[in-house]
Amino acid sequence: MIGMNDFRAEPEALRQQEFAALERVLRSGWYVLGQELKTFETSWAQRCGVGFTVGVGNGMDAIEIGLRAIGIGSGDEVITTPMTAFATVLAVIRAGATPVLADIDPETALLDPLSVERCLSSRTKAVLLVHLYGQMREMTGWMALCAGRGIHLLEDCAQAHLASVSGKVAGSFGTWGAYSFYPTKNLGAIGDGGALVTHVAAIAQQAQILRNYGQTERYHHPELGLNSRLDELQAALLSVRLTWLEEFTARRQQIAQAYYAGIKNPHILLLAQPAAAENHVYHLFVIRCQQRQRLSAYLTEKGIANLSHYPIPIHRQPPCQNVRCDPNGLVQAEVHAAQCLSIPCHPQMSDRDVAYVIEVMNEYK
Ligand SMILES: *Cc1c(COP(=O)(O)O)cnc(C)c1O
Repeated sequence: MIGMNDFRAEPEALRQQEFAALERVLRSGWYVLGQELKTFETSWAQRCGVGFTVGVGNGMDAIEIGLRAIGIGSGDEVITTPMTAFATVLAVIRAGATPVLADIDPETALLDPLSVERCLSSRTKAVLLVHLYGQMREMTGWMALCAGRGIHLLEDCAQAHLASVSGKVAGSFGTWGAYSFYPTKNLGAIGDGGALVTHVAAIAQQAQILRNYGQTERYHHPELGLNSRLDELQAALLSVRLTWLEEFTARRQQIAQAYYAGIKNPHILLLAQPAAAENHVYHLFVIRCQQRQRLSAYLTEKGIANLSHYPIPIHRQPPCQNVRCDPNGLVQAEVHAAQCLSIPCHPQMSDRDVAYVIEVMNEYK
């Protein structure tokens, strides 16, 4: 079976470095908010080209903390996409704000700017972009739209570690970027983890307060915060895994190129390729097929794992049925949800695996 991921096949050298990090933390006797976290925060900020990283418990908390850190909450609207992990929208709701859903561009499944314009209101405080599947597109338009309205541009980068546009990395365009280090993400911990990245010192400082019960100094709580910290063990393991991220990302991009060159089947539609290679880090390789269920069953039978990201758009989830949407509807999101299928694209795949996937995809009738 070719899986969507294969952590057990990771290089032995990586495993040994992880054991060393594990031992270092265990022997240090310091497990929360220590030097390992500081070290990782510094290197991640540097890789993202921002001044500050604040490690938190997971990606969803990074978004909630990010919103609260800039004072977005009750009565405020945040425009985002219905084609994302539920966590994106749940975090907006957890922060007390109101999500508003705009439609997507069918070529990329990313937010459609014209639809976002239709969703703007006097209560709009931010546009929360999701760099879905690991892809980024032209960012100047989004920056201009938000700057022109005096609202925040926010980035959900949970799938887009090291994706960049014109040399600028995901999370460095907006007021902040939120990362997840869930194990399956391109940079994954051995458990849960997340981070907020920002250029703004005051936002980072507020996020540090919020992740730690709203505490400023010991036992002083001017805010009602969360308990959402990236622990020392995860930070140490992430520091190790970060040294492999470029190599793993390059392999994902190589596999994607092979798919673009090799998959030729009139029943299978590939998403648009990005303008530049570095715009897409292929957290997922997603295709569209009118008979998605049938293709999925066929691939499974041939020993190729596959999943849909995402089969149910946010506005079709029971708690979100009354969420305000583009008045023109979310037609493209519904089509994409019905047709999308993710096929294996992870750094541990061999050239033989890749060739086999292409062959099986091309034989589908
Ligand atoms: C994974 C993911 C999240 C949530 O991250 P967690 O660490 O699982 O909380 C949020 N947004 C997107 C787009 C994701 O893929």
